[in-house]
Amino acid sequence: NITLAQRVNALTPSTTLAITAKAKSLKDSGYDVIGLGAGEPDFNTPQNIIDAAVKSMNEGHTKYTPAAGLPLLKQTIGEKLEKDQGLHYEASEIIVTNGAKHGLYTLFQVLLDEGDEVIIPTPYWVSYPEQVKLADGVPVFIDGLEENEFKITPAQLQNAITERTKAVIINSPSNPTGMIYTEEELKAIGEICLANNILIISDEIYEKLVYGDAVHVSIATLSPELKEATIIINGVSKSHSMTGWRIGYAAGNKQIITAMTNLASHSTSNPTTTAQYGAIEAYRGPQDTLAEMNKAFEERLTIIHQKLNEIPGVVCLKPKGAFYLFPNVKKAAALTGFASVDEFVSSLLEEALVAVIPGSGFGTEDYIRLSYATSLENLEKAVARIHEFVINKM
Ligand code: PLP
Repeated sequence: NITLAQRVNALTPSTTLAITAKAKSLKDSGYDVIGLGAGEPDFNTPQNIIDAAVKSMNEGHTKYTPAAGLPLLKQTIGEKLEKDQGLHYEASEIIVTNGAKHGLYTLFQVLLDEGDEVIIPTPYWVSYPEQVKLADGVPVFIDGLEENEFKITPAQLQNAITERTKAVIINSPSNPTGMIYTEEELKAIGEICLANNILIISDEIYEKLVYGDAVHVSIATLSPELKEATIIINGVSKSHSMTGWRIGYAAGNKQIITAMTNLASHSTSNPTTTAQYGAIEAYRGPQDTLAEMNKAFEERLTIIHQKLNEIPGVVCLKPKGAFYLFPNVKKAAALTGFASVDEFVSSLLEEALVAVIPGSGFGTEDYIRLSYATSLENLEKAVARIHEFVINKM
């Protein structure tokens, strides 16, 4: 009998993984399950990126790189930040990480002492609170309300700040809601962060996935003071369909980046060399597959968003970015006799064979998350099944 560390016992099991596992076991038993749980683009990595990675291996680039990443990749990321956001970072202010997720993990490890608080707006990406807890920090939640497009207000932020507040996380476009903070909203939030001397962790992993006339603004671009107070987290996973390659980055204050580099040097060493060469090509090569991918996502979003709202008891705001829909199904669950959305979701999977993620996993009951990173055909079939499921149970 092994006694595991307290920090492991305190981890909350991932709802996403639980649903995905159940969906898989139904699929393995021969059921025609449609999974809308995916957190990754359904397109393959563009061929030029794969070719560049293979070429790098054939040329012998198969050894360690510096822990913070290949100098050429850091330079490339610097150029990307300059070009896309007009932000200038020195190489010493950038670290390449094993995905954005590991960048965040490392950041919390170097930032937090026991009891330090990190403000996390709900609905949140599932890993934020767990990573904060793993660094002995305390997640402090603020409710992003549906009437404010799931975004937090400056007043809410101000009220949540204590002497122990170290940082706030801004994830725009958001997973799971797809909502985007405007420049004005970010300015107001930024002022409060500066006045209270708290760090802004800006998770911009869905930066490239924005639709219609929506624009992504990085809070770091709003003033030199805000740039100094912000750590940008980003990567190639979602923008270039490279989830499996595990390349992300963090950019910001040199002292923090140096600490992250020291930690990485003793934990992961460098991110996989081959994947770093792929990432160089991702940023330097042609970007046309990005536009194609966005076009497909936007078409799916428009169709599915409308169909979802036709289901009795379902209300869905129209997301502006990422590839998730986050409808309120509280009424639908009540109309169909379920005591909670969790039970609704579980029955939806067993009886209608559609896998979605319950909002409880994102700190917000009453909602479900549907990913539209799957074919339009699948999506239409899935939404028709949900519709029929609700009608039949009413
Ligand atoms: N941040 C958010 C909001 C995400 O949704 C994800 C992936 O699902 C990540 C970070 C992590 O991305 P990566 O694959 O680069 O680790």
